[in-house]
Amino acid sequence: RGISRFSTAATLEQPITPPVQVKHTQLLINGEFVDAVSGRTFPTLDPRTGEVIAHVAEGDAEDINRAVAAARKAFDEGPWPKMTAYERSRIILRAADLIEKHNDEIAALETWDNGKPYEQSVKGEIPMLARFMRYYGGWADKIHGLTVPADGPYHVQTLHEPIGVAGQIIPWNFPLLMYAWKVGPALACGNAVVMKTAEQTPLSALYVSELFHEAGLPPGVLNMVSGFGPTAGAALASHMDVEKIAFTGSTGTGKIISELASKSNLKKVTLELGGKSPFIVCEDADVDQAVEIAHFALFFNQGQCCCAGSRTFVHESIHDEFVEKARARALKRVVGDPFKAGVEQGPQIDQDQFEKILGYIKSGIDSGATLEAGGERFGDRGYFIKPTVFSNVQDDMKIAREEIFGPVQTILKFKNLDEVIKRANDSPYGLGAGVFTKNLGTANTLMRALRVGTIWINCYDVFDAAIPFGGYKMSGNGREKGIYSLQNYLQVKAVVSPVENAAWL
Ligand code: NAD
Repeated sequence: RGISRFSTAATLEQPITPPVQVKHTQLLINGEFVDAVSGRTFPTLDPRTGEVIAHVAEGDAEDINRAVAAARKAFDEGPWPKMTAYERSRIILRAADLIEKHNDEIAALETWDNGKPYEQSVKGEIPMLARFMRYYGGWADKIHGLTVPADGPYHVQTLHEPIGVAGQIIPWNFPLLMYAWKVGPALACGNAVVMKTAEQTPLSALYVSELFHEAGLPPGVLNMVSGFGPTAGAALASHMDVEKIAFTGSTGTGKIISELASKSNLKKVTLELGGKSPFIVCEDADVDQAVEIAHFALFFNQGQCCCAGSRTFVHESIHDEFVEKARARALKRVVGDPFKAGVEQGPQIDQDQFEKILGYIKSGIDSGATLEAGGERFGDRGYFIKPTVFSNVQDDMKIAREEIFGPVQTILKFKNLDEVIKRANDSPYGLGAGVFTKNLGTANTLMRALRVGTIWINCYDVFDAAIPFGGYKMSGNGREKGIYSLQNYLQVKAVVSPVENAAWL
């Protein structure tokens, strides 16, 4: 196998100027953009070049205190909880309209700060943000309790009430989808929010949160604190006036968040964490289609998906054909400036991730897996990595066990269903799985046997607003999206009163 098997273009042209200006770099507290108390800022970088896009206010514990105080006041004194549910719904729906109106600027900001292809931001992620907000705006005036039967002469009902001040900590891979999945249900249920965005991608959430205020959201209901995890994030997770914390990020940080919550006020915790999701291609699968979807399942978003189909299990009868076609598809993948039309893959988010992924690639080579494509950086600046494919991967290799969070596909061979079920489930994670088969019996068996929160059969990464998402095992707890997500932001009050005239029981 010659080096030509790994070839892709070696340099990038001059970066394309993003079609947007940075509007907000301060913290958003009590409806106003303000500097951090410390006056400090941190740079947010363009992953195409490593150059500074803007200096952003660096919130820490004192800013979290200010934001929580504002949220507390907005929740305790109103007008937010005193509004009718219909009025709250209207505000969220108006915000969705404004998001739609500013779709292209938001998409450009997101691509600039994150590096994801603009075509995906502008046609995918930002329209989805508006869609999710409409979904939750629709829920706001449909949340209600039950009338409950009692054994004695009592009238019993339940009230479904907001929890109060919700803290939310999000990662950088889908900044605005994570924003939507958390802010949407929290506001629909009538809570006030303090969010800490990821330090790599603070810009888009500031822009969108201003639109919520333009839509009529009262000050203090939605506060944004940019900053770092161990300072601002930890202060939020351990704050005594925050009654709920929702977190998306790595499993290691999820453990810290749980600990901080339990050591402070036992605030309610939901976690969306890492994964090592199996993508199982059965012997009867259409190989071309399976190759394409397995490619998408892994390489989408530069491989930076918590539910990436990162263990591609292929039946031995079609294995060699699959590997050859997966290699060819990876070599065809268009890597480049994410603002350029037709580009499928932009840079990784930052230097740390870039180095971590190259470290995993080295470990794959060192442990004896076969490098079929890629295996090195792309170009000579920024954080681009060539689409990489390994075959001959064994279950105990580091690249088959740990989350790589990058454009590295690992292909494993299997012989039969029982074996692949056991191997697929042999992971501390349980977030997603893909199943490729035309056989209904096989699909039904795998659907029940795999211990994961989402199974995509003959498709992958379908993320409609109503479909719940979350993990089994160490991939987290609680479900986001769909009707299930409302439970994260509501508590139930039972109300009991005597019925004076037993004839009316
Ligand atoms: P990370 O855990 O380092 O950071 C996520 C967020 O937590 C950031 O906002 C960060 O500032 C904050 N944080 C870090 N340390 C903290 C601390 N001590 N206290 C409070 N907050 C802290 O993760 P990352 O590297 O930014 O993101 C990649 C990881 O996130 C991957 O493992 C991926 O699987 C996971 N992820 C999961 C989902 C999901 O829905 N399950 C979605 C996206 C990403």
